[in-house]
Amino acid sequence: MSQIYDRVALIGLGLIASSMFWAIKRAGLAGEVTGYARSKATRDTARKIGLCDRVCDTAQDAAEGADLVVLCVPVGAMGAVAADIAPMLKPGATVSDVGSVKRHVIEAVSPHIPEGVHFIPAHPLAGTEHSGPESGFAELFDNRWSLLVPVEGTDPAAVARLRALWEGMGSNVDEMDADHHDLVLAVTSHAPHLIAYTMVGVADDLRRVTDSEVIKYSAAGFRDFTRIAASDPTMWRDVFLTNKDATLEILGRFTEELFALQRAIRTGDGEQLFDYFTRTRAIRRGIIDAGQDTDAPDFGRGKS
Ligand code: NAP
Repeated sequence: MSQIYDRVALIGLGLIASSMFWAIKRAGLAGEVTGYARSKATRDTARKIGLCDRVCDTAQDAAEGADLVVLCVPVGAMGAVAADIAPMLKPGATVSDVGSVKRHVIEAVSPHIPEGVHFIPAHPLAGTEHSGPESGFAELFDNRWSLLVPVEGTDPAAVARLRALWEGMGSNVDEMDADHHDLVLAVTSHAPHLIAYTMVGVADDLRRVTDSEVIKYSAAGFRDFTRIAASDPTMWRDVFLTNKDATLEILGRFTEELFALQRAIRTGDGEQLFDYFTRTRAIRRGIIDAGQDTDAPDFGRGKS
């Protein structure tokens, strides 16, 4: 794969940025990758493990002269980071981000983007429950979708270039409107995370009663919830604070369905339960057929 940008700057050096770095290196997509994280501990770790060609002590140093600057910090921090680097952005450069919410990021970042600099929000639909500079790996984006959310009037050549970068990192790429993105992600990611957090919280309450039986006998369903509920608290706090409307819309629908199932259980309506579970099973089949998961037992995680 050939080089797409001379210099890429990654601001924030956690799971997504470190995975981007290794994926960029794997395919030779950039001449140089600079990086910045706010804490010295993270910068030291990055230097130790060779994450980024150059780790800078300020975001401005990392962004200076970059052709592409990618904001890889929690959604709630995007605006402040954009304001910080704005004076260093070179004309013709592209600023992008990887935030899990798009409308809020557009509103927070756009006012800081100087004339002559492109702003193209993005979101890779790939992740794990791990965070920090050591959690990344080059294959994270392979065969996963990344969404570009260009605002109206964005230079098509700049969009095509960013698309090429994500494709070079192994992703399939689609373009989507910001509001639609936030609604789709509320269904596929944000509400499921909140439900997992809740279920693990309920079990934790119960644990006090059953003296750790919940952990000792934890079956696959609950273990899957605990994996999701181990996700980074800062990131997820910001997701819910910034994708409020769409998440509340989906949770409202979820609650209605839950009450309907609760009633079916109470009234012994086996037919309704069976039909419902048959419908949801077909959705799972569709995800596997689309190559977005494996149907290996225990999701291919073996005994882990
Ligand atoms: P992460 O591993 O927790 O890393 C976050 C990075 O942001 C760290 O370098 C951290 O610095 C820095 N940071 C945290 N708060 C900050 C603040 N207030 N100001 C400046 N920097 C700050 O996070 P991640 O999982 O890579 O997520 C980064 C972005 O990607 C988020 O916007 C998230 O919504 C999005 N995303 C995440 C996933 C996922 O599954 N994790 C998937 C897709 C998109 P220190 O290390 O110095 O504290």
